[in-house]
Amino acid sequence: MANVESFDLDHTKVSAPYVRLAGVKRTPRGDAISKYDLRLLQPNAGAIDPAAIHTLEHLLAGYLRDHLTDVVDVSPMGCRTGMYMAVIGEPNEEGVLTAFEAALRDVEAHERPIPGVSELECGNYRDHDLDQARTHARDALAQGLKVQPTILIER
Ligand SMILES: [Zn+2]
Repeated sequence: MANVESFDLDHTKVSAPYVRLAGVKRTPRGDAISKYDLRLLQPNAGAIDPAAIHTLEHLLAGYLRDHLTDVVDVSPMGCRTGMYMAVIGEPNEEGVLTAFEAALRDVEAHERPIPGVSELECGNYRDHDLDQARTHARDALAQGLKVQPTILIER
């Protein structure tokens, strides 16, 4: 199998909540695409309920783009402790941190309706939990987000 960057990160040595630059790819034309981890929960110490991380996905899809240009994608981590983000260019970590904090403040303040929640717009529109999504945003902000450097597993 191809090597996957995130499998080289030592998940026991990170301190959530954080943003981490996971890597930068160059397209054949030379453009940069940066991938970030936006981690909300400490790895292996709990997980966001599926309904809540689904709502976070819907809300951050819009709110992160309000605070950071050229976002390609924001998707839940399968482990349900945070989100992945792909963005065109190489925004610095402090800028991504500031944008993520601003987006989380928007999530914390968000009132119904949740955007994109209908049978037409979503693949599982009944599976949402706005209250828990807001609680996770509030908790992460209260704990204080930081820039997490990459610490590789020593093999
Ligand atoms: Zn959905």
